[in-house]
Amino acid sequence: MIKVADIETSEERRRPGRPIRVAVIGAGMAGILAAIKLRERNIACQVYEKRDSVGGTWRENTYPGLACDVAAHWYTYAFARNPDWNSLMAKGEDIRDYFERVARDFGVGPLIRFNDEVVNLTYENGGWDLRTASGHADWFDFVIAATGVLHHPNIPDFPGIKNFKGAAFHSVRWDHDVELDGKRIGVIGTGSTAAQLTSALVAKSERFHLFQRTAQWVLSRENVPYTEEEKAKFREDPAALEELVEQLRDKTINGFANAVIQVGSPEYKEIEKLCHENLATVRDPDLRRRLTPDYRVACKRLVISPDFYEAIQHPNAVLVTSPIKNVEPDGVRTADGVLHELDVLVLATGFLVDRFIRPTKVIGRDGVDLDDVWADGPQAYLSMSVPNFPNFFFLNGPNSPVGNFSLVEVAQHQIEYILQLIEGIRQGDYTEVSATEEAMREFEKERCEAAKKTVWVTGCNSWYLDKQGVPASWTFTFDRFVEETKAPRMQDFEKKTLSSSATEAAVI
Ligand code: NAP
Repeated sequence: MIKVADIETSEERRRPGRPIRVAVIGAGMAGILAAIKLRERNIACQVYEKRDSVGGTWRENTYPGLACDVAAHWYTYAFARNPDWNSLMAKGEDIRDYFERVARDFGVGPLIRFNDEVVNLTYENGGWDLRTASGHADWFDFVIAATGVLHHPNIPDFPGIKNFKGAAFHSVRWDHDVELDGKRIGVIGTGSTAAQLTSALVAKSERFHLFQRTAQWVLSRENVPYTEEEKAKFREDPAALEELVEQLRDKTINGFANAVIQVGSPEYKEIEKLCHENLATVRDPDLRRRLTPDYRVACKRLVISPDFYEAIQHPNAVLVTSPIKNVEPDGVRTADGVLHELDVLVLATGFLVDRFIRPTKVIGRDGVDLDDVWADGPQAYLSMSVPNFPNFFFLNGPNSPVGNFSLVEVAQHQIEYILQLIEGIRQGDYTEVSATEEAMREFEKERCEAAKKTVWVTGCNSWYLDKQGVPASWTFTFDRFVEETKAPRMQDFEKKTLSSSATEAAVI
């Protein structure tokens, strides 16, 4: 394996076949993937991880009931399938174990610098000057930002929350020292996290309050367990396992992913019907009415749960729909004047979804600041490249497919694409590469146009919408995503090569 070398001269950097050094930011699902793929190609790589272990979102989230509602077998790397998933959708801890195991099996650990947050990236001399919080500095030819999407918690400033006598925390900062059995628990929010919390906590609580600002559509999907016989078969017959992955993938892509970008399609109508049927299982008409959303199915990310409606009908459960007024030492007071007394208050209030690599300061060519470029919201050509930020690419970046896709598959397509561009540098075809302004503009224009047909713009507030009300997602078919990420259209990229003066660049 190539060792991270000393910074080279610019002369050396123009030599075809020379060693390339890549920094990967983040050791979650996408960062582990990038490290494995770079190493496979003998490309030196240094991973930076601000915490002390791998796993990203699956390390950060530890809340009761945590699971992934994407089929587990599809939510795995193609080169490291896992015949041992226990059920159709995996528990969070099993997913974290899987990523830790893959990182171990593929020897990623030694490539990671743990507990060191990258705070500054500055493009200079045809590469990136990288600085970390500990004062460490290095220089890389290329940077891959694998920093995730749902990472920075959204913590609304509920008046009085600091005076609450019980325990209060965001779902991603779960306090495992807090006793839950027989306690009065309040959860704010009705997204996928809150639904999983509801199913996990209602029965063990003395009283469970779900504070709902907006009702959600819920699709019921039974979490069928895999038998020991099935697991043995998958272990012995990788082809059978691959067939299963294909089936699960096709079902989601054809039945769901393509449905939401074409409202009115038969696939969309089917999902609509299933959600209405699920809602109809709520027995009390008043509760059903309060749980009925006033927007179209899948406008917000669908909650997928086999038992949320059962849980919210449990005798311990209270659905609170009066808006939250403030938090008091003893609980949450709502606009109707009622004080809901609580011992534990959980903010399942989601994430700041427009951060990506930020707050890391990223300064591109000629001093351009990513914060300024993204003042109106994050954008990247094909979700991966930002004009004037050469040799700087995202995995699961802005407007990448999100929602009910396998983000593992998404990242796999993206890394293969990025590796092709890195290869151009290694071969000496160019020393720097980034999307052209024109390619970015055209892509964004087409993406916004396609957005008009999606269900996400049919009249709801959701984290899918940016400040302009445009879905911050891939608005085309998933097949198109796969097609577009097969190989870079080189005319969409600005490629430069360093002159021997090291600071001048010539467009080629
Ligand atoms: P979310 O979907 O953004 O939901 C946040 C909830 O908090 C919403 O119900 C929101 O209400 C409510 N909220 C926010 N601020 C509030 C305020 N000031 N007052 C009252 N209510 C407030 O967040 P999430 O549930 O954590 O899920 C985020 C994403 O994580 C999901 O969409 C999904 O992509 C992913 N996730 C996936 C899984 C999985 O199984 N794969 C599980 C959990 C999470 P409004 O609706 O009114 O805004």
